[in-house]
Amino acid sequence: MRFFVFLFLFSTSVFSQEGVDVRKSRLPMLPASMVERGAAQQYFQLMRAAEHRQLLNKDPQQLERLRRIAHELIPHATRFNKDILKWQWEVNLIASRAVNAFCMPGGKIAFFSGILDALQLSDDEVAAVMGHEIAHALLEHGRARITAEYAKALGVTAVAIVFNLGNVSTEVLAQAANLAVNLPYARRQEGDADLVGMELAARAGHDPRAAVSVWQKMQKYAQTAARGQPPQFLSTHPSHATRIKEIEAALPKVLPLYKKAK
Ligand SMILES: [Zn+2]
Repeated sequence: MRFFVFLFLFSTSVFSQEGVDVRKSRLPMLPASMVERGAAQQYFQLMRAAEHRQLLNKDPQQLERLRRIAHELIPHATRFNKDILKWQWEVNLIASRAVNAFCMPGGKIAFFSGILDALQLSDDEVAAVMGHEIAHALLEHGRARITAEYAKALGVTAVAIVFNLGNVSTEVLAQAANLAVNLPYARRQEGDADLVGMELAARAGHDPRAAVSVWQKMQKYAQTAARGQPPQFLSTHPSHATRIKEIEAALPKVLPLYKKAK
């Protein structure tokens, strides 16, 4: 009985009346506070490792730009997940040629300088990428994935660990969070993150059409960089032929929000 109540609770969150419409995960998940603690530990370790190698926040102008755009987007995020009022957001920039960015559960954002440099992102395009990453965290895609990786590490099902929370290891959770940022999202999660990311950007006064140009740039870069390494962002956020069409189809829902915000 408890099992059904649990699934019911996780399948009924519907979102804003104006703007895009998506649903939260139906998967069994570890408590958000626990997942956020594990993610925060992993994020802290990553940033400390970057700092030791003198790769953390080396470009004050770009860092200021990222933090300003995050500051613009975050106030609009609560309409998709009220729990985030407790999040302690962080935004850091790692000097690396990796074309990548992520937002862990709990609001821990990292951009790699490669994505800014290789794609020459405008502010609106940074907002598109950041909005998309924040959306994965808001919609609890990261939380579901960390739960799954944690269960896998223990060799049990996600349902089993959700109902046996006795001894949750923060260390194993942090490892799960690390694995989770390096795994691809599902196609439906990508689509939902695109929609929510566009709405966040639009409400913050950033042109949501930048989501189209970002994916065009990403695809072009992947083609020219094919002889070397494809951008990491594309391996963790698999694109597909219809993605840009779906983004374009959703523009009429978010362009009025953008015009109002301006
Ligand atoms: Zn994604």
